[in-house]
Amino acid sequence: MLLRTSFVMLFAWAPMALAAAPQPMTALTHVRVIDGTGRPPLEDATVVIEGNHILAVQPKGAAVPAAAQVVDLHGDTVMPGLINAHGHLALIADGQNSATSYTAENVLAELRQYESYGVTAMLSLGLNRDLLYQIRQQQRQGKVDGATAFTADRGIGVPDAAPPLPAAPDQLYRPATAGEARAAVDEMAKRHPDIVKIWVDSLGGTKPEMPPEIYRAVIEEAHKHHLRVAAHIYYLADAKTLVNDGVDVLAHSVRDKPVDQELIDAMKRRGVWYLPTFTVDESFYIYAEHPGFMQIDFFKDAIPPELLTMLSSDAYSQKVDHDPKTPDHKAAFAMDQKNLKALYDAGVLVGFGTDSGAMPTRIPGFSEHRELEDMVQAGLSPMQAIVCATRSNAALLGIEATRGTLRPGKRADLIVLAANPLDDITNTRSIVTIFHDGRTVAPRVPVVMAK
Ligand SMILES: [Zn+2]
Repeated sequence: MLLRTSFVMLFAWAPMALAAAPQPMTALTHVRVIDGTGRPPLEDATVVIEGNHILAVQPKGAAVPAAAQVVDLHGDTVMPGLINAHGHLALIADGQNSATSYTAENVLAELRQYESYGVTAMLSLGLNRDLLYQIRQQQRQGKVDGATAFTADRGIGVPDAAPPLPAAPDQLYRPATAGEARAAVDEMAKRHPDIVKIWVDSLGGTKPEMPPEIYRAVIEEAHKHHLRVAAHIYYLADAKTLVNDGVDVLAHSVRDKPVDQELIDAMKRRGVWYLPTFTVDESFYIYAEHPGFMQIDFFKDAIPPELLTMLSSDAYSQKVDHDPKTPDHKAAFAMDQKNLKALYDAGVLVGFGTDSGAMPTRIPGFSEHRELEDMVQAGLSPMQAIVCATRSNAALLGIEATRGTLRPGKRADLIVLAANPLDDITNTRSIVTIFHDGRTVAPRVPVVMAK
């Protein structure tokens, strides 16, 4: 058996060094194209990449440009790179959440991990230090690799409340009044974040919840700056008031009750996005069940060996089994499934998020593929789940002009897969290679050549 690393070696060009020279052109021939728009795949097609963008997607039989270097992919599938609209960066060091882990080195390591799993763009939804702006800028200049980062700046909670994570003083605002909340938004607006994040959750009644006068002030002030607001939520009642008060994105699933017509109507009327995050609820108990994915390298290579040992241990399974909250997490997951299906079928805007990077058990790169599987188990088709994670999320982030679909003129952000994810969504894990901004990226776990 051969590993497909030779493919990566062949096309590891350096686009920055060639800025003034003619752009290299590559034709990926004999591919199935899932273009991210939701239309049926093109079979036996050709994708032509020029420099950092897609030049053409050609049907079977069309003439390949003479200048292109031809790579025959023998029936492999290409799809857009995944876009995660709810992740976090550098919140963990040595397998634990830490208030000192947010360093440029850790940010870059996680961005590279996402990229090597085919997640070519991610929104770090809060708890960011200002150094992420420098990294975002360096990426825009082509000086730094890794998944393309978007940032929600620090994020806004209230004192002694959610998020229940350790954070340095320059990682989070905790305003006590509406005036302080407005000042926080004004301060972060000067740094030009991609979105504003708030946490509205009593954490099961254990903490004070952000009062409406605070989040109304945040939403109003953010909108003045032409910034949208994404809210961490858990409860249906909070989702409804936030939507009616102008929030733009519900950044987690509604998990306490079934969504109702009132919420559906309000979300549709106001164009509010919904980000299911199955990964969050599942991360509390799934590893204790020793699911099959824990045996595959695609999972094992994504986490530190000590964490793998811990999650695989009987002691961990027993701890989860005896945790009185475990049934609640399982019930939340089941509600999440029901609510995603109801909202999607009703025509609410649905994006894609995981909350990966927030805790050690929410794993950058792996979790995005698992989340797709969870969405399909909730009743979406593989094509619908893929569109949520590509075109829809590009629209949510306001980057649909350049990303999210495999159309001429878009960035060449795509994943080459050895097997068809429309047959089985877990085939998104069969990554042969990744293109990001036209640059080839070696997959973290190269698929074994089976053909
Ligand atoms: Zn989060």
